[in-house]
Amino acid sequence: MGIDSLIARYREILDESPLDQVAEWKAKHPGTKVVGCYPVYSPVELIHAAGMLPVGIVGGGNRLEIAHADSRFQSFVCSIVKSTLELAMVDKLAFLDGIVFHSICDPARNLGSVYKRNFPRLMVEYIHFAQNLTSPHTIDYLTAEYRRLMTSYEQLAGKPITDDALRQSIRIYNEQRQLLRELYAIRAEKPQNLSTLESYILTRIGTLMPPDEHIAILKEALAGIRQRDERPKDRIKVVLEGSFCEQPPLELIEGLEAAGCYILDDDFLLGWRWFPADVPAEGDPVRNLAESYLHQSVYSGVKHDTRERKSKHLIDKVKETGAAAVLILAAKFCEPALFDYALYRQALEKAGIPHLYLEFEEKMWIFDKARTEVETFVESMLFD
Ligand code: SF4
Repeated sequence: MGIDSLIARYREILDESPLDQVAEWKAKHPGTKVVGCYPVYSPVELIHAAGMLPVGIVGGGNRLEIAHADSRFQSFVCSIVKSTLELAMVDKLAFLDGIVFHSICDPARNLGSVYKRNFPRLMVEYIHFAQNLTSPHTIDYLTAEYRRLMTSYEQLAGKPITDDALRQSIRIYNEQRQLLRELYAIRAEKPQNLSTLESYILTRIGTLMPPDEHIAILKEALAGIRQRDERPKDRIKVVLEGSFCEQPPLELIEGLEAAGCYILDDDFLLGWRWFPADVPAEGDPVRNLAESYLHQSVYSGVKHDTRERKSKHLIDKVKETGAAAVLILAAKFCEPALFDYALYRQALEKAGIPHLYLEFEEKMWIFDKARTEVETFVESMLFD
């Protein structure tokens, strides 16, 4: 299949009803349990090593009608919290056997509790990630937290998680992350050959299937993309930041580039690309996952790391990619993203890097305003 047809096929799945893809997979594998992973990051290897399928539950998109969840959460809460609750209330998550939330923010914390109370047939887990990454006890703490989680998943799967199985899962996800890094590297170097929407589709589809199936898709896609040789357009190069949890509609991602920029890097689906290098598989695999979280994971608004300023990471990213500006694309009412923006704004202004701040919601249908803002921003830079 040609690369354009391959991407079109997966776009159709994401446009229609991505979770049906998982429901169909489960119907074909009736004995296999499926565990949903709320953004941002989950140690999916622990789920996979128990013989279960970890899948991304990253909101309801702009085709889900919110009829019940609005009455359970305040109006000033981000869309993904409400749509994730709605999905379960209208039985769109019937294929799930478990779901895991994390200590990323207060709404996500509350959502975990609401799920536990309202959907007793689901195993609802909650990971308390370390809040102090400079303590000498952090790795012991996180290793113990992961072991606690493993005990739950052993119960759910009805079998023990062996070290060998976990090492194998780490190797598989390492390969998946490596291929995603290659995809991002191509885009950063020759964005005319791979649009942000295309790389998003190829990444997102992998949150809905076993990693080995995604690896095969990525290999086929990479081979096709490497054949492309497009002429660069007259666009400004930017880095996009702020969409690490709730995901913008596909049409918005598409419209941003069409408005006149190449997005060289972004933080979409960040948890599925959490490690910029392989997690070591040899030795104690649980401890390796904890050590990698501490020492070699990406920066993010939901990781409380005081060792280096997040704004420094963002500015480094701009310099390394050769971008000329930053697009901050934050989910409406996302507190971590808003807190970050205050710091990013200050640092970007100090470094003389132009930026544009935009907000989105899952249920956006009209993209003209965002597109006009980007066009005006691009023109201001091109004709400055
Ligand atoms: S979008 Fe922001 S506020 Fe909402 S759950 Fe995610 S991190 Fe929390």
